[in-house]
Amino acid sequence: MNLDLGEERELLRRTVREFAEQQIAPVAEELDREHRFPYELVESLAGLGVMGVPIPEEYGGAGLDTLSYALVVEELARIDSSIAITVAAHTSLGTMPILLYGSEEQRRTWLPDLASGRRLAAFGLTEPGAGSDAGATRTRAELRDGSWIVNGSKQFITNAGTDITACVTITSVTGERDGKPEISNLIVPSGTPGLELSAPLSKLGWCASDTRELAFRDCAVPEHNLLGERGAGFRQFLDILDGGRISVAALAVGLSQGAYEQALSYARTREQFGRPIAGFQAIQFKLADMATEIEAARALTWRAAWLKDEGRPFAREAAMAKLFSGELSNRVVNDALEIHGGYGYMNETPISRFYRDQKVLEIGEGTNEIQRLVIARQLGL
Ligand SMILES: Cc1cc2nc3c(=O)[nH]c(=O)nc-3n(C[C@H](O)[C@H](O)[C@H](O)COP(=O)(O)OP(=O)(O)OC[C@H]3O[C@@H](n4cnc5c(N)ncnc54)[C@H](O)[C@@H]3O)c2cc1C
Repeated sequence: MNLDLGEERELLRRTVREFAEQQIAPVAEELDREHRFPYELVESLAGLGVMGVPIPEEYGGAGLDTLSYALVVEELARIDSSIAITVAAHTSLGTMPILLYGSEEQRRTWLPDLASGRRLAAFGLTEPGAGSDAGATRTRAELRDGSWIVNGSKQFITNAGTDITACVTITSVTGERDGKPEISNLIVPSGTPGLELSAPLSKLGWCASDTRELAFRDCAVPEHNLLGERGAGFRQFLDILDGGRISVAALAVGLSQGAYEQALSYARTREQFGRPIAGFQAIQFKLADMATEIEAARALTWRAAWLKDEGRPFAREAAMAKLFSGELSNRVVNDALEIHGGYGYMNETPISRFYRDQKVLEIGEGTNEIQRLVIARQLGL
């Protein structure tokens, strides 16, 4: 694996970094405090062409690779996780299933608006009774007179209820095969009668991102909105989660990098006992550990992205990257806040937002325990 990113990726990285520093950083605290979805930022990111990084150009995307996409997510999360998860959930969870499993007609219908960022997409897998056990789907879809009649509910769905959400792809039980539930994916257009959205959920972190509960009451979805083959939904969502773990790993690397940089800068300027606290070895060791482990997490994340781009198996590496960088981000925000002392506990200091935004990185797209199960399975256990 070549760790030289090359000119095109470096340019993309620089462009997103500059945008994040100049446009996102000044408003991130306010958006978080007001729990306000960042429509203007999404529009600007669409203008930059980063709402569909790994989607081919013929469908309106940037046609770049997974590594480029991971760089974009990392750079956004270095400044603000709410905007980073909005882009990540839209790209790797909402849009990707349509690219990977959609018919040519479905791709032509949905992808141009999604890949360009004019509209957003969501992925509804989790249910009240189906979290880590994501295959325990209870939502049912029954084929009647040319429509799938959907009944059930989904929990914690990112991007599902914004003004520009075009659709949510959901897993549903469409029948039975060999005594087991047959799971299929359906594209449910926003505004379909019978699709009910809760108000945005109140969360510990990611406060400027959109997270909702969905209820389906005799919600009629056109038969042709079935994604891929009937009964292929279980395999499809496992694959989507593998890819999604690379973006959550990138989120964790970016958040850690941002928190580390804040701690480093604070330690250089904050004086106690007549000298900058960066002069104390206890502080230096914390920063040295952070810098080292962030490099390790980034290397794992890039490797998983590179394997995916090479068309090689990457599920094990994606789970390792997600597990390691998620747990690392917990240590980093903890130490970075500690270095800020009491000032870090105040909401106007960015590190307090990073601290709250961190925990979900060990939960979403599979908890730490589930990553260990995935890795153990890959080890043949
Ligand atoms: C902010 C946010 C956004 C989200 N966005 C989306 C989204 O867009 N789409 C979507 O589909 N989902 C989304 N999710 C859902 C997320 O993926 C789930 O919350 C996650 O998979 C965990 O499921 P759960 O919350 O039901 O926890 P549970 O599965 O109930 O887990 C509870 C605890 O039990 C542990 N546990 C469970 N099973 C085992 C086991 N076999 N061995 C050991 N320990 C176990 C877990 O690790 C955890 O510690 C989001 C969640 C959050 C918080």
